[in-house]
Amino acid sequence: MPQPDVLISEVGPRDGLQSVHATMPTADKLRWIDALYAAGVREIEVASFVPARLLPQMADAAEVVRHAVSLPGLTVMALVPNRRGAEAALAAGVHKLTVPVSASEAHSLANVRKTRAQMVEEVRAIAELRRSLAPQVGFEAGLSTAFGCTLQGEVPEDEVIRLAVQCIEAGADEAGLSDTVGYANPAQVRRLFRRLRAELGDKAGAAHMHNTRGLGLANCLAAHDEGVRTFDASLGGLGGCPYAPGASGNVVTEDLVFMFEAMGVRTGIDLPQLIAARAPLMAGLPGEPVYGMTPEAGLPKGFRP
Ligand code: ZN
Repeated sequence: MPQPDVLISEVGPRDGLQSVHATMPTADKLRWIDALYAAGVREIEVASFVPARLLPQMADAAEVVRHAVSLPGLTVMALVPNRRGAEAALAAGVHKLTVPVSASEAHSLANVRKTRAQMVEEVRAIAELRRSLAPQVGFEAGLSTAFGCTLQGEVPEDEVIRLAVQCIEAGADEAGLSDTVGYANPAQVRRLFRRLRAELGDKAGAAHMHNTRGLGLANCLAAHDEGVRTFDASLGGLGGCPYAPGASGNVVTEDLVFMFEAMGVRTGIDLPQLIAARAPLMAGLPGEPVYGMTPEAGLPKGFRP
């Protein structure tokens, strides 16, 4: 099979599951991850290493990682909020760490009770840990609220770019931009990723877009036009959006893969098999709404990826 043109990084088992109330049984998580893998997904954020009392949905993080790393060629990612989480994730055997760093000072204080500067120090501590324990493991900083924040509103673009540079200087391999609350528009996405790539070169990371206001795909396309080649998405848009009933949270993987494949941009993912991967997801979370226009409508007649 030819090398894909873009990397679709599935974040449902982490981002999706941690935003729904119910806890998916471990066996269902593993079946879901296997189905994603069978469809050709080659990077999955499988868990978040946070205390189980804060997020009971993620209590089985180490077990899920141990299973996922047995799938050949799959990059297994985990979210870690701090050094302690990174230690646990590295012990479980992840291939890549991702640390959320809020671009908005208000969001950072509300979310992790740390200033942005303190989070940069956390990034430095994790980078040092990685260097001493597992230098082969990847490490990305994901700048949340990079396109706006429900608490402070606008997030100045200069501050976003400066923070991304600080994360790289502190030892992260790459810095990506997340539209955590779905405020981004394509013009803004173009502008910020152009600046990010000018500043960081190949250390500019993934686009993590939300579909809160229906612009998720448009924003991914804008990022692609600016040279971004890694896109986070979640199967069935799992998790929804607490602020916008009826809207998916993350960009829906099925729709994103359809857009790229229809354009002739290779994802390496088989759409019918990807759509089939919704079955284990729904079985593990009965009653939870899942989203996606492509799975609802079906593939166009004669569609060839
Ligand atoms: Zn998200």
